[in-house]
Amino acid sequence: MATDEFSLIAQYFSVCGTAGADTLLGVGDDCALLVPPDGELLAVTTDTLLASVHFPLDSPARLIAQRALAVNLSDMAAMGATPRWFQLALTMPEANQHWLAEFSAGLNAMACQFNCALVGGDTTRGPLTISITLMGTVPSGQALKRSGAKPGDTVYVTGCLGDGAGALALLESKLSPRVEDGDYLKERFWRPQARVAEGLAIRHFASAAIDISDGLLADLGHIVKASKVGAVVGVDNLPLSHALCCSADPERRLNWALSGGDDYELCFTVPADKLAKCQRLIDEGELTATPIGQIIEGQGVRCVDKQGIPFEICDPGYQHF
Ligand code: ADP
Ligand code: MG
Repeated sequence: MATDEFSLIAQYFSVCGTAGADTLLGVGDDCALLVPPDGELLAVTTDTLLASVHFPLDSPARLIAQRALAVNLSDMAAMGATPRWFQLALTMPEANQHWLAEFSAGLNAMACQFNCALVGGDTTRGPLTISITLMGTVPSGQALKRSGAKPGDTVYVTGCLGDGAGALALLESKLSPRVEDGDYLKERFWRPQARVAEGLAIRHFASAAIDISDGLLADLGHIVKASKVGAVVGVDNLPLSHALCCSADPERRLNWALSGGDDYELCFTVPADKLAKCQRLIDEGELTATPIGQIIEGQGVRCVDKQGIPFEICDPGYQHF
């Protein structure tokens, strides 16, 4: 990169987020030295954001940074793991000081909110690409895998579905909501709130979990495939935000809730004998989640309406290849 690569790293990336006693050595040496808690497993995940594919090229740097970390935090949440450390591989066309200041401020804000620290990375010149590897820990035996769902389990989702796709439509000028609804949708897109606290809460009773990045049907599809089961989803039970309901007609918003991406909510399954525990958390306001269906014998995900009549949908969610 440029001659001042090292001063650039020192200036913008040497202190980012909250490093605790679990970071023996962070940015600046050949490797970071990390200290996982005794008896816990390392949970590691990587996500890459490409300009023009995952966000418009001229997006604000602060928002790009927050989104890049948030999508990784969402994977950590889906595992029921505690985020601790991350590495940043940053490729950019030029070292623009203003852009870097905004980018590192956004990254720092999100890292502080979720109590994790930047401990290293790589900096290169090229088309704008942000790749983050996030590491966390989870007590051995408590990780929420995709493969644990059983027939009879109830399927839940956190928060609301469809906002991510609604926001994307708005950014592409294909949706014209009221100003306040548009602000809500844009916030949901740029600063998705990774459900880390929810992941930690449900790991005591959930049998499987995934984060919804490619649409509910696609991601619940991963759970049923890994668990060798099927699922039925009641489309009338899907939680939709007030803003989305005010902005899009029923067919469009239902399609977005089922197959739109970028929601970063959790989809998880709960065995019958653990439902009361889950409900207690919901009643106490510790968890915002809605039961949307059941795990059954068989394979694939089916949708039905209130009367149990099959509901057809053909959009399978976003795929790169
Ligand atoms: P090396 O040549 O040994 O790979 P680098 O010059 O790439 O070292 O990086 C020097 C130090 O700065 C390392 O500790 C590395 O982890 C860190 N680093 C490089 N780029 C970034 C970045 N974008 N964010 C955080 N740390 C970075
Ligand atoms: Mg390097």
